[in-house]
Amino acid sequence: MDKIWEEMYEAAKAVLKPRTISGYVTAGEVSAAVLSKSGKIYTGVCIDTCSTLGICAERNAIFNMITNGENEIARVLCIAPIEGKGAPCGACRELMVQLMPTSYKDIEIMLDYRTCKTTTLGEITPEWWIDY
Ligand SMILES: [Zn+2]
Repeated sequence: MDKIWEEMYEAAKAVLKPRTISGYVTAGEVSAAVLSKSGKIYTGVCIDTCSTLGICAERNAIFNMITNGENEIARVLCIAPIEGKGAPCGACRELMVQLMPTSYKDIEIMLDYRTCKTTTLGEITPEWWIDY
């Protein structure tokens, strides 16, 4: 495990705080950390609502990166209810592909922190529509 993955895990863990915000909104049951190409770590949590207005932790972290003026992702890690294990959903993969259409395949994804199992976005989305 390299130090950057450890830093990303600690950053994601720091914002992992499941909570009920209102009768309609919960947040923080999943957290994510995104490493930008510049080397900064951005975090986000999932926000769940009763009418699909919420967002995944990964996309929230990516939006945080974009909000702070960066556009390119190097790595993604999330902490799901099965701690340290998880892969970005189709919507999150779609966003990453559209953000980086010529280089998305190189984005590194942590699949299982406990066993240090990583993959790339290219491996888990080999035939994305944008390639055609
Ligand atoms: Zn997602």
